[in-house]
Amino acid sequence: SSSTQFPFYKTCLDTNAYKSQPEYRKMNAAFIMLTRNSELSDVVNTMNSIESHFNQWFNYPYVFLNDVPFTDEFKDKIHSLTSSKVEFGTLSEVEWEFPQDVRESFEFFESIEDQGDRGIMYGSMVTYHQMCRFYSGIFYKHPLVSQYEWYWRIEPDVDFYCDLTYDPFYEMWKHDKKYGFTVLLDELYWSVPNLFRYTINYIKSNKIKLGTLWKLFTYNYHILDTQDENLDKFVNYEQEIQHKISEKIAIDSLTGKINEEGLQYLINRATSKVPIMEDKFENEEYNLCHFWSNFEIARLDVFNNNVYNAYFKFLEESGGFWKERWGDAPVHSLGLALTLDLNEIHYFRDIGYRHSTINHCPKNSKSMDENSYFEAEPRFKRKRPTYDTPVNYGIGCRCKCPKRTGDVE
Ligand code: GDP
Ligand code: MN
Repeated sequence: SSSTQFPFYKTCLDTNAYKSQPEYRKMNAAFIMLTRNSELSDVVNTMNSIESHFNQWFNYPYVFLNDVPFTDEFKDKIHSLTSSKVEFGTLSEVEWEFPQDVRESFEFFESIEDQGDRGIMYGSMVTYHQMCRFYSGIFYKHPLVSQYEWYWRIEPDVDFYCDLTYDPFYEMWKHDKKYGFTVLLDELYWSVPNLFRYTINYIKSNKIKLGTLWKLFTYNYHILDTQDENLDKFVNYEQEIQHKISEKIAIDSLTGKINEEGLQYLINRATSKVPIMEDKFENEEYNLCHFWSNFEIARLDVFNNNVYNAYFKFLEESGGFWKERWGDAPVHSLGLALTLDLNEIHYFRDIGYRHSTINHCPKNSKSMDENSYFEAEPRFKRKRPTYDTPVNYGIGCRCKCPKRTGDVE
């Protein structure tokens, strides 16, 4: 199916009519957020945004997780923002901490400190490493989460710009989609220098039959870059590779966000006849792309399956979650590529999204036609389809639907 490349709908729907279609069913799904008590005001921002743009019509439940108990103040505030069911969970030591022998070792402290010294982003924060490990291989097994079949991951400090008047879980199910994203990013090389080597190692030793998604995240530089004889002579080899890839896939040089042309380039390549080098891999590299995982709408079994669980176990045993600063985003992306085909992925280009300083505005998407309800203020519109697109700090992307009586602003 080609609908990876197209939104499920381009216009506003009447949500009551949508929900009364005989074939519609509410899915076994929930919002999932790991967060801290101290982030309450940013959590409120996210919830107000998702409630007013989507959940006031669809009423999906929430699961909040924390490494310490949520305060009554936190819980009361959350309940006041939604009429949906909300559950709060506290993570156990096994779920949140590194294994005891690891966290008490000298090597552990030394490695975390060293990453700080080397300027690895978040590298010096033990809790950040824990968070990445948790989201990589543990969240989907938490009992409050695993009761569901689908989840939508959210974070504090998120804005959803657009009204979403259909049910993304239902549409994904209907169209045989298993994982949905809205932003594709370029990873910082030095946070994952050995992740790909371990991934290849796992694939080889377990004879994994890869999905076609694999080609979205990898390239074989002998096949793809034969025209470039100069590559080997660069001193800073890895960074040069990163730079080359960046140029090819049209990455926003400031945010690392991969734009529409970049995604199209990757999809074209992934669907081209370049073979997956199942048993060779010698010339294959990770292109550093990954789905930005603070937004995910997916089936839980894309992770909770034998191949991915064993992959996580293998990565955990390698120590990469603390010897390096492997993010859950690249781990998810490569891990999904072990089993999924490209056509099982959905690009939610119609979901306007901002988190921290990176955003996605549907109007910037070529495939959203002029007649759709998406609007962007002129200064938000992308001027040039190149990787030096100016950063927009989330201002001015709006997608309005006609309001109905009773709708919450
Ligand atoms: P970034 O988006 O990569 O900058 O990472 P964040 O700092 O936003 O962390 C990702 C998610 O994990 C957010 O929802 C945070 O609230 C949550 N998180 C990160 N560290 C901790 C922690 O130490 N404890 C708890 N409870 N949540 C955390
Ligand atoms: Mn975040």
